[in-house]
Amino acid sequence: MVTANAKSRVVVLLSGGMDSCVCAALAVRDFPAVAALHVSYGQRTEARERSAFLAICQRLGITETLLVRNETLRAIGGSALTDPTIAVPEATQIGREIPVTYVPFRNAHFLAVAVSWAEVLGAEKVYIGAVEQDSSGYPDCRPAYYQAFNQVVKAGTKLGNIEIVTPLIGMRKAGIVRLGLELGVPFDLTWSCYSHEERACGVCDSCVLRARAFREAGARDPAPAEIELAPGS
Ligand SMILES: [Zn+2]
Repeated sequence: MVTANAKSRVVVLLSGGMDSCVCAALAVRDFPAVAALHVSYGQRTEARERSAFLAICQRLGITETLLVRNETLRAIGGSALTDPTIAVPEATQIGREIPVTYVPFRNAHFLAVAVSWAEVLGAEKVYIGAVEQDSSGYPDCRPAYYQAFNQVVKAGTKLGNIEIVTPLIGMRKAGIVRLGLELGVPFDLTWSCYSHEERACGVCDSCVLRARAFREAGARDPAPAEIELAPGS
């Protein structure tokens, strides 16, 4: 039996990056009870991302948390994020193809854990901060993927009533920054860099997308990388 209280609860996937942080802040704004999930998967910056997750939860007042470890993605490798022998490319080296920072079918692993947890909690929504435009072009960040995944969730859960929600998927990155600033998102606590944990590298795709987003939003990044964007980049 799903109680009224459980209905108003949502699970949020929170990596510790800027998009997932804005997504979590939206959930906190709109729902009385938010449970946050973090998945470590052997990525280069996993310790830094985990500490960002904990700090963001504390700042947003999220007390219900679940931190899990996925060993399979690292064991499988095939990505610059999980295989130390594959270098993280600089943003300028990336062409039109899906870059090597893509972790094969990663978001399906995350969503599976989130939906399992939502089912146990009685939550009816899973929020994820996937972004299609202004992103690295990963196939598991496309709207069609989430539409299809929702069909799987509907067919494969007890009540079939859990929905994956992607509030940022159609937004430009600068718009996400502006929305985050309106919501009072703690961007200072977020971590975006793919390759370094001490100091953001400023050259990976994630660092460059972040810097460009703040620049286009006309805002100062409270946790800037050492980066100078070339005009028009
Ligand atoms: Zn970086």
